[in-house]
Amino acid sequence: MPQPHSQTLSELRSLFRSDFFSNDAHDLITYGADWSGVLTPDPALIAFPRSTFEVASFLSECSRLSLSVVPSGGRTGLSGGAVAANGEIVLSLEKMNRIGRLDASARTLQVEAGAITENIHRRAADDGLFWPVDFASKGSSQVGGNLSTNAGGVRVIRYGLTRQWVLGLTVVTMAGKVFELGGSLEKNNTGIDLRQIFIGTEGTLGVITEAVLKLTSLPVESRTRVLFLELSDFAAVLDLFRQARSASFLISAYECLTAACLREVLSAGMKSPFPNFDSDSTSVFALIEIEVEEEMVFDAFLETLARDAENQASVLNAVVAETRKHREELWELRERIAETILSQGEAHQQDLSVGVSDLASFFQGVESRYRTAYPEFEVFIFGHIGDGNLHFFIRKPEKLSSDDFHKRCAESDQMLFEFCQSFRGSVSAEHGIGLLKKDALHFSKSTAEIEYARALKNVFDPENFLNPGKVV
Ligand SMILES: Cc1cc2nc3c(=O)[nH]c(=O)nc-3n(C[C@H](O)[C@H](O)[C@H](O)COP(=O)(O)OP(=O)(O)OC[C@H]3O[C@@H](n4cnc5c(N)ncnc54)[C@H](O)[C@@H]3O)c2cc1C
Repeated sequence: MPQPHSQTLSELRSLFRSDFFSNDAHDLITYGADWSGVLTPDPALIAFPRSTFEVASFLSECSRLSLSVVPSGGRTGLSGGAVAANGEIVLSLEKMNRIGRLDASARTLQVEAGAITENIHRRAADDGLFWPVDFASKGSSQVGGNLSTNAGGVRVIRYGLTRQWVLGLTVVTMAGKVFELGGSLEKNNTGIDLRQIFIGTEGTLGVITEAVLKLTSLPVESRTRVLFLELSDFAAVLDLFRQARSASFLISAYECLTAACLREVLSAGMKSPFPNFDSDSTSVFALIEIEVEEEMVFDAFLETLARDAENQASVLNAVVAETRKHREELWELRERIAETILSQGEAHQQDLSVGVSDLASFFQGVESRYRTAYPEFEVFIFGHIGDGNLHFFIRKPEKLSSDDFHKRCAESDQMLFEFCQSFRGSVSAEHGIGLLKKDALHFSKSTAEIEYARALKNVFDPENFLNPGKVV
């Protein structure tokens, strides 16, 4: 797509205050990209509205002038959803970051879309409350981005997806129409719920400008236990998961990582969980967070683990965090994986899910396929066990050029997608489709579903100006 005509851009700029736009070279590169890092950003302008009213006037003027717009949050997305590589105007929600009224009895919080996820956690915690959308990029991601990707994360096993933690949305369509959807109503059974189609559709149908979030109680710190375990293999991770699920306590996170992931974060300076970690280990590791109601139940679980560890059957090593600092150190081992791999140079990543009961066969099948067909790849596998969701990161081997690496990854992705399809799994568990997964959509959705999704896009954005080329 060519860059828009400079006269058209000048006309647009003349309609708004002078600090509404930036075409500073650094801003264009920064705001035109996300963490996927694969495509070269090339936006025409960056817009920084400060209110829903400004978003509405901006979008209706862009429609009139036939200008394409890419909504942009914290740009931590890994599928290229917020990338502007074709002369679009980036609509950054960054300046709409106000955190408004917290209603403690209704347990709701009013926010603007640009509020940072972690700041929402902090505000809720001041009143002993919690917005349970939680993952490693929470320090940069925005609530609008979380809602637009229906983000998952480390607490889905306990609390579900982002979709479940929002009551009301304010959304602006490309025509500049403002929808107030849901408000603060917990119950509102009045037919088709339009809110839901703006959640998880990656800014292709409308721009989320404000939300009423639903909150829950902050987990009680004294009841929270974090365990980090070394297990003989992936099957043992799932056996232990079954055991933990049948105990009478709440699992608030059950994460796994391979030894390659642990080596990676340790080499970046994280503290080893065990004094005797063998750097040639081929074990698999689990991080479990539990909310304990009865100490006796938890003690019985620990005794089972200790017996198993004594026999060196499946539990090879285990540690229970004793202080808040220790808990945070153990969590860092899991949360820093993606960031560490991505900061070490070129890498390719996938994010797939299958039913939890298929996870062991899926993991083993993928591992052996990579080993046999792509022995040159260093593969890092980690993920959210309770959600059947695994992430696969592959580091570019030194001897491969960047182009050859991407060709090999495109080939290996086909293998991965076909295998995932055989389990009726999803080619994008939580990172969305964006630009990078569009061609793989058919592995997880039928032709009819894709056609109906396109028809919906046509209703809200018939000229295809909003986040063009993304998702469908
Ligand atoms: C280290 C790391 C770990 C991660 N871990 C997880 C994880 O565990 N679970 C998970 O689900 N994701 C994870 N992600 C991916 C990412 O952080 C989430 O998808 C997050 O919700 C994106 O939020 P964002 O504000 O950065 O959105 P962006 O990347 O800016 O945008 C994402 C999409 O939403 C659209 N969008 C953004 N704001 C709006 C808006 N206000 N209105 C309409 N559309 C909008 C964009 O156009 C784009 O299509 C991780 C990413 C990183 C880098």
